[in-house]
Parts: sequence; structure tokens; C-alpha cells
Amino acid sequence: MATRTIKIHYDCARCPGYCCSYPRIELHEPDVERLAKHFDLDVETARRKFTRRYKADEGVEQIMRHRKDEIYGSICRFFDTKARRCTVYLARPDVCRQYPNGGKCGYYDFLKFERKHQDDPDFIPSA
Ligand code: SF4
Ligand code: SF4
Repeated sequence: MATRTIKIHYDCARCPGYCCSYPRIELHEPDVERLAKHFDLDVETARRKFTRRYKADEGVEQIMRHRKDEIYGSICRFFDTKARRCTVYLARPDVCRQYPNGGKCGYYDFLKFERKHQDDPDFIPSA
């Protein structure tokens, strides 16, 4: 069976990392285990250091801890706020691998539109 190739219409290298500022970045057990292995920690230590509990309507989730960020206020603790990139790319959670679940990213479209209309290739709209 032929595989369908999705054309990608966004460039994360030109974006300040908006999706990493989502307050609720959920981790499942394999994600915590992968991060634990990456940092050579036991799973419970990784869970404590990297995640916090969030009470959702569907039940309690483990979500990523955040750090302060000049652009978005707060962002994933693994985001390098100067280089604007993920520091655990190979060990990142599944949700980060899947996002934005297709060939288009709504934020990137918005960013591109504003940069064009402000005539400034580095413009960042306030969140
Ligand atoms: S918001 Fe979109 S373009 Fe920006 S880093 Fe995330 S996926 Fe990439
Ligand atoms: S793990 Fe990496 S890709 Fe995922 S939210 Fe954090 S900085 Fe972004």
C-alpha cells in the first residue's frame, strides 16, 4: 500500500515555540520513563522533577512543569528560552511529536500573516 506524504506548511525554526507554552502538556507513563532514561534518573524522581498533577474533568493528568518566559509568560521547563528550542528533542513526550497533527499549524499561519503585514520578519504578536 502506498504511504501518503503530508506536505508541511510550517517551520518551527522560525517560530518562538508557541506550542511549548501550552499550560497543559500531558505526559503518559512511557513519556516519563523516556525522560527518566534520558537523564539517567529513576522514574519517580523524573516524575517529581519534570511533571505536576493536574485535575481535569476526565481525571488526574501528569503535565509538564513550566519555567518563566519573556515572550509567553511561561513555557515548558525543557525549553531553552534564549535559543528558542527544545532541549530534550529526542526524549520529548509523544504529544510533542504529534503536534500539530497535520501539515498546518494555526499559530504559524498567524505569525506568517502578521510578519508579512507588519513588514517585519522577526515580529512576534503578543499572546
Ligand atoms: S507553534 Fe507551530 S510552528 Fe511554532 S513551534 Fe509549535 S508546531 Fe512549530
Ligand atoms: S518537551 Fe520539548 S517539544 Fe515538548 S513542550 Fe517541552 S520544550 Fe516543547
